[in-house]
Amino acid sequence: MTDTIATPPAPPRYPTIRLHPGRQKRVQHGHPWVYSNEVQMDQPAKAVPAGSPVRLVDAGGTPLGVATFNPHTLIAARMLTPDPAAVIDSTFIATRIERALKLRDALFDRPFYRLIHAEADGLPALIVDRYGDVVTVQANSIFMEQRIGEVLAALDAVLNPTTVILRNDSTQRALEGLPEETRLAKGSLDGALRLEENGNAFFADPLGGQKTGWFYDQRDNRAFIASLAEGARVIDFFSYNGGFAVTCATRGARSVVAVDRSQPALDNAARAAEANGVAGIFETRRADAFNELERLAAAGEKFEVVIVDPPAFVKSKKDLAVGCRAYRKMTRLAARITAPGGYLLAASCSHNVDPPTFAEQVARGLVDAGRTGRILRSAGAGPDHPVHPHLPESAYLKAQVLQLD
Ligand code: SAH
Repeated sequence: MTDTIATPPAPPRYPTIRLHPGRQKRVQHGHPWVYSNEVQMDQPAKAVPAGSPVRLVDAGGTPLGVATFNPHTLIAARMLTPDPAAVIDSTFIATRIERALKLRDALFDRPFYRLIHAEADGLPALIVDRYGDVVTVQANSIFMEQRIGEVLAALDAVLNPTTVILRNDSTQRALEGLPEETRLAKGSLDGALRLEENGNAFFADPLGGQKTGWFYDQRDNRAFIASLAEGARVIDFFSYNGGFAVTCATRGARSVVAVDRSQPALDNAARAAEANGVAGIFETRRADAFNELERLAAAGEKFEVVIVDPPAFVKSKKDLAVGCRAYRKMTRLAARITAPGGYLLAASCSHNVDPPTFAEQVARGLVDAGRTGRILRSAGAGPDHPVHPHLPESAYLKAQVLQLD
């Protein structure tokens, strides 16, 4: 008898990576990372090409699931699924994107948000931001880099965006030895793209200029400070494309100044002010933020709302002390120009500064300025930047709003 019955294709046999005895516990409890010193890095493990999916097993051979693997990085394995038989293809990725999209549909009325926030959305090291029919994609691991074709196919299947921009310019990529590049992967983009947030229109230019998009993480913090801006003189340092400044302007501020050293960023802010009908009370000022803070403080100028949301001052752990001093100084100068009874929003997006450490710098800065006050809000990023329950440290954004006496 001949064998004519077609057998289903065998599931792919991913290389097996074995952990040291006892090192399976964190993964079993749901932690998504395995460090390189927890892996039995024998010759076969070292020979697994960086970026491969692997079958992770404990020291006794019991399967733990499928992970992405890179033998050369401190985080050697990132869990994809506890299912040891899972096939990692564009369908797998599309299922995760669908789940993330459903969540954003529940959270937001309009299609402008971070769609995929890496581990928390089940797609380690992948970031996708959505601007209506345009998406930007950042692949922060070799695994995601190598599977970018599957990622794009999955995005097409779930969302079918007209334009896809690969925005591969992060410091995480450098850690994985990946090059920086920003380019169009699909469609076209004519100048800046338009987005909506808190009912306002904004502009961002992920291809030209600074090649950065929009920081959706501050959405709720922008709405909060803007709710206190009625009738206020507002100044927004490190304004970028005007997220805080324009939101305050449309919520009834008397006057708003956006300060940044980047002219393209200020142009986007001015364009947003125009589009939202608040150009008459809106001023952009190209300056170094610290110089401008010093100048205004020396001149005795006061504002009822002061916002300082700078780039990360602590890019790596070795910069911690210097960066902390910069947050403290920033707070001291910002407090000096905050009117009595006014509000100060100080923020930090440094992964390496935890919330208590940031709060301490803000508190010290206030003392240095000779000011007292009270914290009204200590917040992080909005819910389109979910946090993996086992990676609380990935909640990188800290924003404090204080009222000063
Ligand atoms: N607050 C912004 C995000 C800040 S991004 C928002 O809500 O979207 C950091 C911004 O700081 C960039 O636009 C950059 O041009 C600006 N910047 C960095 N260093 C600066 C400095 N020393 N003085 C003024 N602007 C600076």
